Amino acid sequence: MTQTILVTGGCGYIGSHTVVELLQADHKVVILDNLCNSSAKVIERIKAIVQIKDQTHAEGNTLANDDSLTFIEGDIRDEALLKQIFITHPITSVIHFAGLKAVGESVSKPLEYYNNNVYGTLCLCQAMNKANVKTIVFSSSATVYGEDAPVPYNEAMPMGNTSNPYGTSKAMVEKMLADQCTADPQWRVAQLRYFNPIGAHKSGLIGEDPKGIPNNLLPYISQVAIGKRKELSVFGGDYPTPDGTGIRDYIHVVDLAKGHLKALNHIQQPSEKKKGEKGQGEHIWNLGTGQGYSVLEVIRAFEQASGKNIPYQIKPRRNGDLAAFWADANKAKAELNWVAAYTLNNMVSDSWRWQSNNPNGYS
Ligand code: NAD
Ligand code: UDP
Repeated sequence: MTQTILVTGGCGYIGSHTVVELLQADHKVVILDNLCNSSAKVIERIKAIVQIKDQTHAEGNTLANDDSLTFIEGDIRDEALLKQIFITHPITSVIHFAGLKAVGESVSKPLEYYNNNVYGTLCLCQAMNKANVKTIVFSSSATVYGEDAPVPYNEAMPMGNTSNPYGTSKAMVEKMLADQCTADPQWRVAQLRYFNPIGAHKSGLIGEDPKGIPNNLLPYISQVAIGKRKELSVFGGDYPTPDGTGIRDYIHVVDLAKGHLKALNHIQQPSEKKKGEKGQGEHIWNLGTGQGYSVLEVIRAFEQASGKNIPYQIKPRRNGDLAAFWADANKAKAELNWVAAYTLNNMVSDSWRWQSNNPNGYS
């Protein structure tokens, strides 16, 4: 059934890929994004992928889809705007990506992170409550398991001690949403704990476009490959891992995007009167592959896919980094029938296609 879904942060990396999947599943999408970490150009790219034509360029009567994507430039903390959006559009649910995500920056600007990520989500939820829209999929992170959790991480583990304001902001929002579910059983919440999203849409039209020097591994490797950066610093060669470098659970962003549709579908299932209600309340799912790769393995895979040499130097460990973690992905498989389909080779090939087709991202 076609629905209208509000996607906050829909111009960003994961949001844009999810919007493509939603449109391809015949949903209508309203994007709310303040463009603080993205470009409005992504809208044209999304339209090109799903072949929506602009009304202004309309010819003939082939434009049944034209109202399927609406972009609103604005902030989730703008209460009047949110109210207006819920009045204007028949929104049934929200997928909430909007937020700040740079771990290091969160340490130096904690107030900005709590303001955007926690207060911003509070504003969004209050507006949803007033509009009687009580279904939300939230972008959480594996970081909420904290520093001491044993691997693989599974959803039954308690949240741990987060080591930076970014991680704490995610844990705080999870708790807030859980409390709201307890208070009002009409709320339906999916807390999706992402592992390490990489890759790009196979069209090469959308992908990750970090501003400034990339913090994350894949954008950094891609910029070395394209010649923008001289060499990669590998943070730590003395971890207790087989090759001494850090291990993460990398997941293709399109697999991640598809996980959102499955999660939304699950929490929208009609509730049953008896025990075992399916959709209502709080649900937590890891979105990862269940398989970890080291930094050196990722470099080798990228070199093979791109045919480029990636010079690197082993440097000291980065503050706050963990040695190795990956997902127990069984709960999402059992409950959502979702498993990651793409291999590491697919991920790095798609990252490279995006980077080589768009050396300067969207600009
Ligand atoms: P991104 O920065 O590419 O996308 C976030 C989008 O939100 C951007 O387009 C930005 O302009 C927008 N935004 C930020 N604050 C806003 C506000 N107040 N109002 C409106 N729009 C706002 O990041 P991403 O990688 O796509 O991540 C999406 C979500 O997933 C974030 O919440 C992030 O914390 C979470 N997450 C990301 C990762 C990752 O590795 N990329 C891992 C775990 C969780
Ligand atoms: N990493 C690295 N060099 C970089 C960026 C990252 O060696 O320039 C390593 C990092 O130490 C970690 C892995 O790559 O082991 C993934 O880091 P990323 O920042 O992409 O994700 P995180 O898991 O920290 O969220």
